Amino acid sequence: MLSTTLLVSQLQTNYPQFLFKKGDCFSWMPAEKTIYYTDKDENWRILLLHELAHGLLDHTDYNHDIELVAMERKAWDKASELAQNYKIKIDNNVIQSTLDTYRDWLHERSTCPNCNATGVQTEQYRYKCIACSHEWRVNEARVCALRRYKLNK
Ligand SMILES: [Zn+2]
Ligand SMILES: [Zn+2]
Repeated sequence: MLSTTLLVSQLQTNYPQFLFKKGDCFSWMPAEKTIYYTDKDENWRILLLHELAHGLLDHTDYNHDIELVAMERKAWDKASELAQNYKIKIDNNVIQSTLDTYRDWLHERSTCPNCNATGVQTEQYRYKCIACSHEWRVNEARVCALRRYKLNK
């Protein structure tokens, strides 16, 4: 397996259109065309490829939370392709548990605080309950916090 420095410099050579920077968490910043990574996670190789996949797929903004979940799924498909080029094995449990994190997040946001029914997203940060007509606001997705995941052992 390649060391962090080796893999990052290899990716930097293969994808000169992006900048790879060490940060506090894994993220893709479309405005800066920068991929932030950390090597403090045992799965850093595949998480790094996942962020690169977001970049290659040109993922930018989204208006509906459900689009974010779809983007996550697409990024994992792409990351799985990339992994073969770098002889990195992607553990399907990591993919499933990160996707679960997004599903849980979506579920939490779309649950009506008034009656617990599932609401529909009416605007970027707004939901409306179909059962009781209650409307509520949600925050911007906190990228770092969402990236933390637990593996089911
Ligand atoms: Zn992602
Ligand atoms: Zn309700």
